[in-house]
Amino acid sequence: MTRISLLGVPLDALTREQAIEILLSFLREERQKHVMTPNSEMLVEAARHPLFRALLQRSNLNLPDSVGLLWMARWTEQEIPERITGVDTVTALCSRLTADCPVFLLGAQEGVAERAAEVLRRKNPQLQIAGTYAGSPKEEDAPAIIEQINAASPLLLLVAYGAPQQDLWIAEHLKELPGVRVAMGVGGTFDFLAGVTPRAPLWMQRMGLEWLWRLFREPRRIGRIWNAVVVFPLLVLRHGREGKTL
Ligand code: UDP
Repeated sequence: MTRISLLGVPLDALTREQAIEILLSFLREERQKHVMTPNSEMLVEAARHPLFRALLQRSNLNLPDSVGLLWMARWTEQEIPERITGVDTVTALCSRLTADCPVFLLGAQEGVAERAAEVLRRKNPQLQIAGTYAGSPKEEDAPAIIEQINAASPLLLLVAYGAPQQDLWIAEHLKELPGVRVAMGVGGTFDFLAGVTPRAPLWMQRMGLEWLWRLFREPRRIGRIWNAVVVFPLLVLRHGREGKTL
């Protein structure tokens, strides 16, 4: 497995197909795995928060979810073959899962995970959805969430609380979910699957302009988009591929 490094954060340089094969192999292994889907804003967050950076450094797989990561990898003479988004990964993975690999969808607004589950089930009749729950990343809600997940016995847990909350939640609680083999932070994936947030037109995705689409649709994201489009490239230009002193 080829890993590259940006701002001291390892990123897996894989094709989508290779990523799916690795996820399937993780699901066959007993040892628990934390999978992250870093994007440009998350690397800015990591540069500011050592705890979050440490999580990215020790997660089992970091799938590069934004075109900015591809561009800045190239700038530092490294190569990421393609962008691997959470929604594409979940869609492709669920089409390969058999009934003996139940999935639990945690997070997003009330009702969204259920609608996402329905969409996945309709496309993949073999898929077993063990449960869905909106929940919240608040610590006081964790015991009830953990009880629900353990009762449903999924092997794959998808957590949609946005970054960094979803990954902090997984890092804190995965050990209390002994039946879960793979826990993955998936950001806005359930909103895309449920059709709550439409994806950018294909031509915009292909030109690497999905961020512009999101800015247009959700102007309140301006701070995050600024971090992704301006702060992130500046940080990489300043620190190069290592950035270990950040
Ligand atoms: N979310 C949540 N609880 C929270 C914060 C966020 O369930 O306290 C959900 C939100 O509804 C959305 C998901 O987290 O479904 C990801 O949000 P966002 O679009 O910010 O994620 P991104 O994909 O941009 O990381």
